[in-house]
Amino acid sequence: MTPRNIIIAVDGYSSCGKSTLAKQLAQHLDYMYIDTGAMYRAVTLYFTNHGVNIEDLHEVQSALEHIHIAFRNMEGQNTTFLNGANVESEIRSLAISGVVSEVAAIPEVRKKMVAIQRDLAAAHSVVMDGRDIGTVVFPNADVKLFLTADVEVRAQRRFEELLAKNEANITLEDVMANLKHRDLVDTTRADSPLVMAEDAMLLDNTHLTISGQFKLALKYINGRIAH
Ligand code: C5P
Repeated sequence: MTPRNIIIAVDGYSSCGKSTLAKQLAQHLDYMYIDTGAMYRAVTLYFTNHGVNIEDLHEVQSALEHIHIAFRNMEGQNTTFLNGANVESEIRSLAISGVVSEVAAIPEVRKKMVAIQRDLAAAHSVVMDGRDIGTVVFPNADVKLFLTADVEVRAQRRFEELLAKNEANITLEDVMANLKHRDLVDTTRADSPLVMAEDAMLLDNTHLTISGQFKLALKYINGRIAH
């Protein structure tokens, strides 16, 4: 009998270390890592570059037909490609972060992204991070983790990350405002709002190190799935 694919869902608020944990788990378990936030960011980049009016459903739908998103491993790093171009760094800018939640609230956008996410998990065991993975995309995921941390801590971590990437002219206040804005839009949208699944493990990493968080998550996972 072929063992079935395992799905680990990592959901939570903006900039609370979901991708760091999800990547560590994927590497340790030898599963595929899927960054669903990168998919919504890539759609947002396309819409921005092509001047798509997000209020116009017809424009949104026809733009979606021209969007192809793929992930490739480049020198050990999970890298996002939009229509064949490496957009990994561009999609992380504060400019994209500023509008991504509005784009991600559009049901047609979500429908297309969720279909891609389900296809990817049909072929591999995955660790998938996002906002609605354990609630909407895979309500029957084998393991569900829900991450959070104090907003001040999250803003400081993201600010340092952006500085390290040489993003110009940003302040801690800009980053904090963006996180609060995205959390608000993500938790209050009608389609697939960010909410903790009832059967998820809550992990508040405000006072945890990256390795402390990894150990806790792995212990929980090992208790839930047989390897
Ligand atoms: O995870 P990341 O912060 O890169 O996600 C960017 C944005 O994409 C989120 O603020 C949210 O609006 C949207 N998103 C979503 N559903 C997901 C993943 C991300 O709506 N599964």
